[in-house]
Amino acid sequence: MRQRIHRVVQNARDRARPARRNTHAAHDRSAARVPGEARRPSIAVGYVREEQRSDAPRIAGRGDGTGVLDNPLRARHLDPWRRPRVFAAVAVPVLLVSHPDCARHDTGPEHLETALRLSALRAALNADAMLLGAVREVAGAPAAEADLLRVHSRRHVQKVRQAARAARRQGLVWLEADTPVSQGSWDAALAAAGCAAQAAELVVSGAATRAFALVRPPGHHAFRDRAMGFCLFNNAAVAVRRLQAEGRVGRVLVVDCDAHHGNGTQELFYGDPSVYALSLHFSPGYPDSGAPDERGAGVGLGTTRNVPLPHGTGGTDYLARFAEALAAVRDEFEPELVVLALGLDVLAGDPEGHLLLEPIDLHRLVSDLLRAMPSSARGRLVTLLEGGYAVERIGPGFAQVLRAMAELPPADGAGPT
Ligand SMILES: [Zn+2]
Repeated sequence: MRQRIHRVVQNARDRARPARRNTHAAHDRSAARVPGEARRPSIAVGYVREEQRSDAPRIAGRGDGTGVLDNPLRARHLDPWRRPRVFAAVAVPVLLVSHPDCARHDTGPEHLETALRLSALRAALNADAMLLGAVREVAGAPAAEADLLRVHSRRHVQKVRQAARAARRQGLVWLEADTPVSQGSWDAALAAAGCAAQAAELVVSGAATRAFALVRPPGHHAFRDRAMGFCLFNNAAVAVRRLQAEGRVGRVLVVDCDAHHGNGTQELFYGDPSVYALSLHFSPGYPDSGAPDERGAGVGLGTTRNVPLPHGTGGTDYLARFAEALAAVRDEFEPELVVLALGLDVLAGDPEGHLLLEPIDLHRLVSDLLRAMPSSARGRLVTLLEGGYAVERIGPGFAQVLRAMAELPPADGAGPT
């Protein structure tokens, strides 16, 4: 046994004085709080003399003598004499659901949507010791065919599977101008949809209030009967429909903050009053839909909302329009769960995005969403990765999103607000 001095994370229940944060991320968390939920520890950081034992939470150090626990949920098991003396931060656990098959969707040498995106996001997470202390990895399971068939036609599902089989013999098979299928794409698509559904299930079951499905291929352009825009199956819709089919959730708000209109998601829920689809996106441009007067149809009229934004919209204007939209949604819908379909192509420098957000804006975006979520959602947020193609830019944006989900302050050096 060794005596070490660490800066450690500790359950704030052990302290009489609550932790405070000193950034704009500090806000009224009442809307996101789950009353009496034991799984949501408040976590504080402080200096403490710790006796390192095999069963003690390990410290993820930053090389400067500071760090956070690898698993904050275990902090409550620290002996009382090892409790911290100084508080500095608070975190909510975030589940990160992924599957290695997501990297097997090979789009060829010229395509923007590559597995390098996942590598870049992983690197950004691993470089953020404070964030690592709030994130718990979960190995996702592939979706079943029955999951896909709740959303997509049998014809489309078979078409994707057969294209992947054909790709074994002949190389990439293109389902449409932007969307190739390789021999690994079927497994990747099942993994992506399965991780999305599992992330949503974990949140609804109470395992955590926040989860991020780190997946590709993306999903929000996938229609019931066809692939489009790099998307094979609609991951968000597969997640929502599985939970609804199992009777685990009724009303869901899907917030699409990819740079492009979430046209597939809109189509799938257009006539359904149980799912509200909100999309912010640049306009005019691909996929040439998402006008404000597209508000749903039939009994679903009023549960679709589109916010087209001019090319070149930056963080301040984007967040102002986002706040307006969330206020409108609050008046119209009481979700039990919020799904954020997040495209990192909203960041400045994206080759496809035409918007000019900075990574710090994504922290504000998620923080604003958590604050604006109706109490009916009980703070339950599932985020799914959609687009984002500037590999050198997306890592910092991803870290800021996870930090906001964990209710940690934004990372330093993330650019101007
Ligand atoms: Zn996009």
